[in-house]
Amino acid sequence: SARPLAGKVALVTGASSGIGEATALALSMAGADVAIVARRAERLKALAERIEKAGGKVFAIEADIARANSAQGLVNDVLAHGKRLDIIVNNAGVMLLSPVSEAHSEDWRQMIEVNLVALMELTRAALPHLKESKGHIVNVSSVAGRVANPGAAGYAATKFGVVAFSEALRREVYADKVRVTVIEPGMVETELGDHITNPGMKANLEQRRAAMEPLQSEDIAAAVLFAVTQPPRVNVNEILIRPTDQE
Ligand code: NDP
Repeated sequence: SARPLAGKVALVTGASSGIGEATALALSMAGADVAIVARRAERLKALAERIEKAGGKVFAIEADIARANSAQGLVNDVLAHGKRLDIIVNNAGVMLLSPVSEAHSEDWRQMIEVNLVALMELTRAALPHLKESKGHIVNVSSVAGRVANPGAAGYAATKFGVVAFSEALRREVYADKVRVTVIEPGMVETELGDHITNPGMKANLEQRRAAMEPLQSEDIAAAVLFAVTQPPRVNVNEILIRPTDQE
């Protein structure tokens, strides 16, 4: 059907920009009610207005997912509003690239807290409800979850972690008919690099991105939509997706 996700409720973290924003839109267009989460309330509000104008149902939650105890509260909020939970897209992330020798502890901790610990905690909080709905967990890792490049040691550690967590999780929950998908994008044109504190790494990223035609957020949203609209017997475990130009 044109609205394969009608009647379903999806939670998307990091929906205030980039891949999360595009994914929330795509899930909404496919018929899902969407709960959108991030820190920037204004950006969430603008997205919510777009979704509502297009006839979708949306619930914006301003939250820092790295804050202690936010996972259960978030899931409670979504359930209070949507009454069920079918899909969770753990997309929020930060990429604070730096060589190990120059890395700031704060950057490492932030990446581990947001990219890994928050994803783990939100998954655990959502799990009982996903078992009930025979739902779907989509975790956004990266090519950096498969290939560890110089300058990305801390970031790759979190993204390899997401891959490992997701695979063990899949084997724990498949018998409950809960599906687990890992998405591993290559270079996507988003705001992700804006927060890099290491000037050399920031310039290097901009150079690499300028040398290719990067993916657009919509390309990744399409991959997520593909995974979550398969028949119940199909568990798309992993999607690795690079720009054609990327080595
Ligand atoms: P953006 O920077 O555009 O989006 C990141 C999102 O994460 C924002 O919505 C941001 O919202 C949210 N976020 C960050 N920290 C927190 C926090 N503490 N609490 C709540 N939300 C938070 O980048 P992308 O769209 O590119 O990134 C999305 C995911 O894709 C990330 O996990 C990233 O690692 C991954 N990825 C991206 C690639 C790329 O080339 N762009 C390649 C491979 C993977 P706010 O600041 O409002 O809180």
